[in-house]
Amino acid sequence: MSLGVIDAFKKIPTWLAPACALCRLPLDNQAQYGLCSACQAWFAATVRCPLCGLPCLTVTDACGQCLHSPPPWQRLFCIGDYQFPLSHMIHQFKYQRQFWQARDLAARLADTIKQPAPLLTAVPLHWRRQWYRGFNQSELLAQALAQQLGSQFSPTLFTRRRATPAQQSLTKQQRERNLTGAFELNQRPTHSHIAIVDDVVTTGSTMRQLCHLLLEVGIERIDIYCLCRTPEPSDLLTP
Ligand SMILES: [Zn+2]
Ligand SMILES: [Zn+2]
Repeated sequence: MSLGVIDAFKKIPTWLAPACALCRLPLDNQAQYGLCSACQAWFAATVRCPLCGLPCLTVTDACGQCLHSPPPWQRLFCIGDYQFPLSHMIHQFKYQRQFWQARDLAARLADTIKQPAPLLTAVPLHWRRQWYRGFNQSELLAQALAQQLGSQFSPTLFTRRRATPAQQSLTKQQRERNLTGAFELNQRPTHSHIAIVDDVVTTGSTMRQLCHLLLEVGIERIDIYCLCRTPEPSDLLTP
């Protein structure tokens, strides 16, 4: 092999080196979760209500809204709000099939969970939507999270019995009605502590429906693991 060819090989690593998922620069020594140290700054910790996961001004056991009407789950863990760069990364994962994002996002979320549930499950998609998309993003996340946390993953705990129209334009009551009977619990889980995984939790209506199905069969503790917790405009106005 000529010296010229060897020199060419020496140069390869600079452009083959793993790149930051956001800025595309080569990952440095302090890189974490697939992001360079500069891009890590986007993920500064925010004080949140441990029950609903919405941002709070001070550290608290429950925000005013949760004290007034507590959710049916015990704790909600999330990485952040649905805004850049999380929104961008989730979009790449969900619509551009960048499945490696699931692993890095799951690792970041897993590091915030101190007492993991022994059993994880995911929000099911209706079979038609799953067939159209080719995968269930919540299932991929739950799988990666279960691996990180050393928990079991059950992909078939729930079935979505019917496709439901988009929730965004509906009021809270319409949403609840829209989802009534949309899900079914396929078997009684063997663990009394379960976590339900989704990519983005906005209204919480889907999670409430799934929690009620678990509470009906005597599950004692339910946690929610999601990448983003996004408030609705009405949440922000409620004292
Ligand atoms: Zn970067
Ligand atoms: Zn709260």
